[in-house]
Amino acid sequence: MNCNKAAPMSRKQIRRLIRYIKKQAGLENELYFPIIPFVENVLPLMFEDYQFEVVPIEEMGKKHGETFPNSNTIKIREDIYLRAVKGEGRDRMTIAHEVGHFFLHEKDSISLCRLAPGEKLKPFEDPEWQANAFGGELLASSYLIRNLSKNEVMNKCGVTFEAASIQVDHCMDEIF
Ligand SMILES: [Zn+2]
Repeated sequence: MNCNKAAPMSRKQIRRLIRYIKKQAGLENELYFPIIPFVENVLPLMFEDYQFEVVPIEEMGKKHGETFPNSNTIKIREDIYLRAVKGEGRDRMTIAHEVGHFFLHEKDSISLCRLAPGEKLKPFEDPEWQANAFGGELLASSYLIRNLSKNEVMNKCGVTFEAASIQVDHCMDEIF
């Protein structure tokens, strides 16, 4: 089976990167991460040739979002964008996931690999795992949610209960 392999990145490294990004954006202590203003107003300040595009459903098809790190472009399907604007947790996370690809996955950092039957990519080498971990951490940062319940994280951070649970469960472990 062919697959994409990314330069290894642990949850700990991802956390460190996100804290740095949030600090740069002046959002270090915000429990509710403003993902839409971030992709529309902050990223253009950080990257000169950055482009954010909202794409009609007819054009984008089944994809919810797509990121081209080498041309600094993030594309989000229109319906996903509109629900994220309204604060829908699942759609906010879709955009945060694409922001993860944007920061982590330049062409040179991804390689095509071939897995033997039954062999699995290690999670921290899987670009999708990395983008998910990045998205979860961006919207519900472990250093901010240490004393919160899953429901509080869901409501205060604007994520689904599922995403809140993952963040709370991983909050204390520093290894992975
Ligand atoms: Zn992805």
